[in-house]
Amino acid sequence: MQGVSVPIDADYIPISKRMGAIMAETRHTRVLIIGSGPAGYTAAVYAARAMLNPILVQGIQPGGQLTITTEVENWPGDTHVQGPDLMVRMEEHARAMGAEVISDYISSLDLKRRPFVAKADSGITFTADAVILATGAQAKWLGLPSEEKFKGFGVSACATCDGFFYRGKEIVVIGGGNTAVEEALFLTNFASHVTLIHRRDTLRAEKIMQDRLFKHPKITMLWNHEVTEVLGDEAPLGVTAVRARNVLTGAVTDVPCSGFFVAIGHAPASELVKDQLPLHSGGYVEVEAGSTRTAIPGVFAAGDLTDHIYRQAVTSAGMGCMAALDAEKFLAAQDVELKAAE
Ligand code: FAD
Ligand code: NAP
Repeated sequence: MQGVSVPIDADYIPISKRMGAIMAETRHTRVLIIGSGPAGYTAAVYAARAMLNPILVQGIQPGGQLTITTEVENWPGDTHVQGPDLMVRMEEHARAMGAEVISDYISSLDLKRRPFVAKADSGITFTADAVILATGAQAKWLGLPSEEKFKGFGVSACATCDGFFYRGKEIVVIGGGNTAVEEALFLTNFASHVTLIHRRDTLRAEKIMQDRLFKHPKITMLWNHEVTEVLGDEAPLGVTAVRARNVLTGAVTDVPCSGFFVAIGHAPASELVKDQLPLHSGGYVEVEAGSTRTAIPGVFAAGDLTDHIYRQAVTSAGMGCMAALDAEKFLAAQDVELKAAE
C-alpha cells in the first residue's frame, strides 16, 4: 500500500522536541512541599495562606498512608471518616487556598546549593528557596500473601488506629521492639487477650517496657516463633488465627485471634536526604526540638518522616502547619537580609 502524504502545520513541533521542552522545564517556587499526606497538605494550606505560592509534589501515593485505610475515628471534627475521603478533602482544601498540587515524584534533591534543586520523574526540575519534606513512613510488613489478603480485614500495622475494632476479642502482635511492646500493652485496653510473638527469646524493647509487658495479666509471650500464615474466613473476609512456626524445633501452632498487628518496624521515606541530613532511630529526619527545622537552614521536615513516636494523622498535620510557619519565618528573614545587601 502506498503511503499517504499529510501536510504538516507550520507551527507543528515534532514530539521529540516537545518532549525535549518538557524535559528541560525548570520551575522555581518559594516553597516546595514534597509529599501529600496530612503533613504535606496542611503545610500547603498554611504556606498558600501566607501567599508563598507553594508547589506540592504528591509522590506515588497521593494522599499518603490514610488512603490505604478505611474508618478513621480520631480525626478531630469527624467521628467517622473514610481515610481516602479525608485525604481528598485535604487536597481540595490545599488547592482552594492556592497551592499548586502536582502529580509527580521527586527522584533527587540537592540541598547543598541554593536555591535547592529537586528533580522529578517527569523531567521537571524544581528550584526552591525553602523545602518542606513530608514524605512520611511506611510500616514494614512480613510479606506473606495471606497478610496482604487480610490487610484492613483483621491485619493492621496501627494499634492506635484499629485497636478499637477488637473490643473483647483475641489479638496477636508480632515484633520485639518498642513499637510491638507498646502496641501489645495498648491493645490490652480492648482485647480479651494479647499474644506477642517474637522470633527470638529476648526483646529489643526498653527494659521498663518489658517489665510492664511481662507483668500484664492479659499478655502471653510466644518466643522463638515466626508467623508463616494468616488464617481466616472468606465471607465475610476476616482473620481467625495466625500460624506460627517454632524457629528452633519447626513445630507449628495456630494461635486463634481476630486481629493480627504487625509491629516489626517502620521505614521512614528519607531516601532523598539520607546523605545530606542527620537521621535518628533508623532513618527518621532529625529536627530541632520544638520546631521542624533540620540541620540545613531553609529545609524543614514534618510528619512521620521525622516522628518515630506518635505517627498519627493529626500530629503529622500539626507538624505540617509548624513547617509552613517555620518556612515563612525563614523566608521573611532571608528577604530582609537580601534587601539589606542591595
Ligand atoms: P504519609 O501519609 O506517609 O504521606 C507521605 C507522602 O509522601 C505520600 O503522599 C507519598 O506519595 C509522598 N512521597 C514519598 N516520597 C516521595 C517523593 N520522593 N516525592 C514525592 N512525594 C513523595 N493515623 C491516625 O491518626 N488515625 C488513623 O486511624 C490511622 N490509621 C492508619 C491506618 C493505616 C493502615 C496506616 C498505614 C496508618 C494509619 N495512621 C492513622 C497513621 C497515619 O496515616 C500517618 O501518621 C500519617 O498519614 C502520616 O502523614 P504524613 O503526611 O507524615 O505522611
Ligand atoms: P525496631 O526497634 O526495629 O524493632 C523491630 C522488631 O521487629 C525487632 O524486634 C525485630 O526482631 C522484629 N522484626 C523485624 N523484622 C521482622 C520479621 N520479618 N519477622 C519477625 N520479626 C521481625 O522497630 P520499632 O519497634 O518500630 O522501633 C523503631 C524505633 O522507634 C526504635 O528506635 C524504637 O526505640 C523507637 N520507638 C520508640 C518508642 C518510644 O520511645 N516510646 C516507641 C516506639 C518506637 P529482632 O529483634 O530479632 O531484630
